Amino acid sequence: MKMAETSAMPAVAPPVARVPLIRRRGLLIVLSSPSGAGKTTISKKLLEAESPMVQMSVSVTTRRQRPGEINGVDYSFIDRADFERLRDEGALLENAEVFGHAYGTPAAPITAALEQGRDVLLDIDWQGAQALAAGPFKNDLVRIFILPPSLDELHRRLERRNQDSADVVEKRMQGARHEISHWRDYDYVLVNAEVAACLAEVQAIVRTERLRRERRSGIPGGLDDFVATLG
Ligand code: 5GP
Repeated sequence: MKMAETSAMPAVAPPVARVPLIRRRGLLIVLSSPSGAGKTTISKKLLEAESPMVQMSVSVTTRRQRPGEINGVDYSFIDRADFERLRDEGALLENAEVFGHAYGTPAAPITAALEQGRDVLLDIDWQGAQALAAGPFKNDLVRIFILPPSLDELHRRLERRNQDSADVVEKRMQGARHEISHWRDYDYVLVNAEVAACLAEVQAIVRTERLRRERRSGIPGGLDDFVATLG
């Protein structure tokens, strides 16, 4: 239906100043939490909300594939020999042992994405966050830690997930306490009491971090070039 024009509504919209395109480096977003704190859900929702600007880093691991997991999407499931080969070749940006299995972050996709101004989301533990803070991309790093509202709630979530046996749940509860003890290593620490609210906080962090001067200067097409056009 065509809306009637009123005197309050001009026939032609006034011109809107276009936001100039200023290039930036991508963010290396690390999301850590004890398992069961909702990190996987938050990651998936952030990827949906920020697609295609944010891509997920797919780790390699020697752990067994769980039901519902997709090889090459959730993880690349490889054996010890292949893991050690990748690590020794320097193909992993960081690697760690978690719950008796080896995990590592492939370097190549990250290098490419950051240079092209795309953000990469990493679901890795505190050891990975520490290693990255000492690595070549430390200036691109944004470390976010997600806490559960309580340990009781974490236990309930792990049981409800029903993917692991009772003794694995107990092991993961012990692991959770240890993971939580590293909260000070992170730039941002959030409590995931409600997914939508926590996601909104993560998005606010990501959107603000993208605007930091150092991410947008010193690169072709970045702030230096734009400011030069202002005379
Ligand atoms: P899960 O086996 O439950 O998927 O993951 C166990 C833990 O390993 C989680 O805390 C997860 O964040 C961590 N993790 C997954 N991939 C990596 C990785 O590439 N590097 C490191 N350091 N930790 C990882």
